[in-house]
Amino acid sequence: MATNDVAGTSRRTNRPNSVNSNYGSVHFRDDDGSSDLENQTEHSGNDKDISDEKILSGTFESLDYDQCENELFQQEERKSSKAYIKKEVVRWLVFGLIGILTGLIACVIDNMVILSTKLKFSYIKTVVDSCVDANLSCFHWPFLIWVGINAVLVLCGAFMTAVIEPIAAGSGIPQIKCFLNGVKVPHVVRIKTLVCKVLGVICAVAGGLVVGKEGPMIHSGAVVAAGISQGKSDTFHVDFKILQYFRSDKEKRDFVSGGAAAGVSAAFGAPVGGVLFSLEEGASFWNQALTWRIFFASMLSTFSLNIVQSYVKGTPWSLSSPGLFNFGKFDTTDYSGLEIPLFILMGVFGGLLGAAFNHINYKLTIFRKKYITSRGTQVLEAILVAVATATVSYLTLYFNNDCQPMRKDPDEDSVQFFCDDGQYSATAGLLFHTPEESIKELFHDIPGTFRPATLAVYCLCSFFLACWTYGLYVPSGLFIPSILIGASWGRLLAVLLKSAFPSATWVNYSKYALLGGAAQLGGIVRMTISLTVIITEATGNITLGLPVMIVLMVSKWIGDIFNEGIYDMHIHIQGVPLLGWEPSSMLTNISATEVMSHPVTVLRSYESVGRIVNILKNETHNGFPVVEDYDPFTEESPDSGTFGTFHGTILRSQLVTLLKLKVFEEHEDAQQIKKILSIKDFRDAYPRFTPIHRINISAQERNFHIDLKPYFNPGAYSVSHCASFPRIFRLFRALGLRHVVVVNRQQQVIGMVTRKDLARYRITQHLGKVNMEELPITN
Ligand code: ATP
Repeated sequence: MATNDVAGTSRRTNRPNSVNSNYGSVHFRDDDGSSDLENQTEHSGNDKDISDEKILSGTFESLDYDQCENELFQQEERKSSKAYIKKEVVRWLVFGLIGILTGLIACVIDNMVILSTKLKFSYIKTVVDSCVDANLSCFHWPFLIWVGINAVLVLCGAFMTAVIEPIAAGSGIPQIKCFLNGVKVPHVVRIKTLVCKVLGVICAVAGGLVVGKEGPMIHSGAVVAAGISQGKSDTFHVDFKILQYFRSDKEKRDFVSGGAAAGVSAAFGAPVGGVLFSLEEGASFWNQALTWRIFFASMLSTFSLNIVQSYVKGTPWSLSSPGLFNFGKFDTTDYSGLEIPLFILMGVFGGLLGAAFNHINYKLTIFRKKYITSRGTQVLEAILVAVATATVSYLTLYFNNDCQPMRKDPDEDSVQFFCDDGQYSATAGLLFHTPEESIKELFHDIPGTFRPATLAVYCLCSFFLACWTYGLYVPSGLFIPSILIGASWGRLLAVLLKSAFPSATWVNYSKYALLGGAAQLGGIVRMTISLTVIITEATGNITLGLPVMIVLMVSKWIGDIFNEGIYDMHIHIQGVPLLGWEPSSMLTNISATEVMSHPVTVLRSYESVGRIVNILKNETHNGFPVVEDYDPFTEESPDSGTFGTFHGTILRSQLVTLLKLKVFEEHEDAQQIKKILSIKDFRDAYPRFTPIHRINISAQERNFHIDLKPYFNPGAYSVSHCASFPRIFRLFRALGLRHVVVVNRQQQVIGMVTRKDLARYRITQHLGKVNMEELPITN
């Protein structure tokens, strides 16, 4: 850390550890009004010296959740109470609409998946049945057909993500988590992303990959929210000239929270779980009114899904399908207090297996970042996984054909496969379904349906296939694969317990399968409160609430000893400057002067157009302190001193708007322009502001001036030079800030702190050992 002396303290000069590297293979294309230099930067070449996950990417910008309370804002706020009431009513309506649309999207996904899967399996079943009937050994045909159909479907899903919109890959939960945390992830809430996500997930699930459609629903809900709350679409170049007052990061974030909650609600029929999910992922800004609105969106989401599904099932208004996936009816739900130690052990096992899953997936992700970087290889890998999944399933069927006597009421999907007449293949029962249906079978099929070997093999195959699949360039949820793995070992445990204690009445297969699923999910994703509620709501059973909570808690604790949750892991691998819940106590000794950047680029409240243009063109910063008593041209060495008295901050986006609208003091219509200028002019361009190089400023205009007083934020936050790291961290985290200016006792600017300056201090924990690292920031 470079240290100089400012006001008697040490400080960090700008970006001492910056390195240039093409960080990662995740394709973030930034055209959302980002810094102009960043837009011009060609990223090339990998920096092999730096461990892949130990860098902070400088390309991620922050969202600004702090309200800029400049004169224009205050003018608008002083308007009549009628305008305020109208705004509130519209806000509720928009939340309602978000819920309904999210529910409808869930219906589309669900029915398309069901339809395509049914078509696929019924065709394969016909081919198998004709082989059985004709007593022919032609089982290679159904295999080839299965592999072929899956490969084509996955090819479509991968094309959608790898080629058209890379950000649509994966579950989307890490990206939404980043958004709620205050990081701008380019393209994350675009309509194109939504279309690719929806079509891609249908192809991925129908293509037999070990993925769920529930995680992508959360992302879909968030995109719907961000889209309809803005009253315009940049993709389609339409502006409906409505909802302009919601065009700010702060308002958009609230709607996105509602959309994410509606997504969870539609996915699991868990409206409360949805609200808690948003709470767990973005709690810093929570307030009572917002909670209530988010709950409203969640309720409408599950309600609209329920209504449409009732029509699809031919039982109009019989509202029994609250979510894309519910765990079915749990008949025996009681448990004995004596079983609690067993539940704890299940939590331990889930935590260990989850940590192993995350570790393997981590290594795989690093490998992918290094070697699977072109779109062609990304699509090829997805197809390879589809072929491998189908092959493993078929081989499992062949070598472990669990033949059970045909039941009295055979399932319409019961396939004889390699079994004798009068028997059906239980293994095929698991494999010839979507992962959701397989989970229900594991939860609810009568005892004796599966042999222990079937469960063990199925668990192992699902584990490795799910691990390989997560991170592929296809939209994919992780909830269902995790529950699938856990449900198979949970049920296996129940089978073993039953054979050890044949007379025990407490050994209930459904209960152990459910708790296994919960333990495995907790061990992988490490979410606690929202997950407990989601699972409890999805089972529709509160009695098992405590055991579910126990296994989730224990699996998280155990998993955390070894590594972090899979979502955080992927966020860190991408170098996203995410701020955690709390600053570590290890950072208490670090003060503002060590964290801040110095020297600082400041603007005077009455600034020349030429200087503003030069700064915007030559620097990447998005925020600038506005000061008085400072002359940048006579200052001999800015590195040694202070930068004028702090008055507020102004954003690049505001400066660009002022330059574009030519709000120059010397302009002949200056007074007229200033009179009609309102906060609406700044919102209209949101969120994609014109890059500075596209704004024409003549040589004469460069000598003009802009009076920044009505436009900068006079209430911007600043901290004293002796403030501690944890104090600044909490300020950022709790208020969702983008810039904090460091001042000395005389209120003179001495430094600047942004999210990246805080996120670069990372605390890692491994096997009880806690380490602090200072990460370099890449360009
Ligand atoms: P963001 O990218 O988070 O939207 P930003 O572009 O203004 O905000 P960062 O990219 O986070 O800022 O900043 C990169 C580095 O530049 C940080 O170390 C930060 O302290 C420093 N920095 C930011 N603004 C200024 C400024 N006006 N003058 C000097 N240094 C700055």
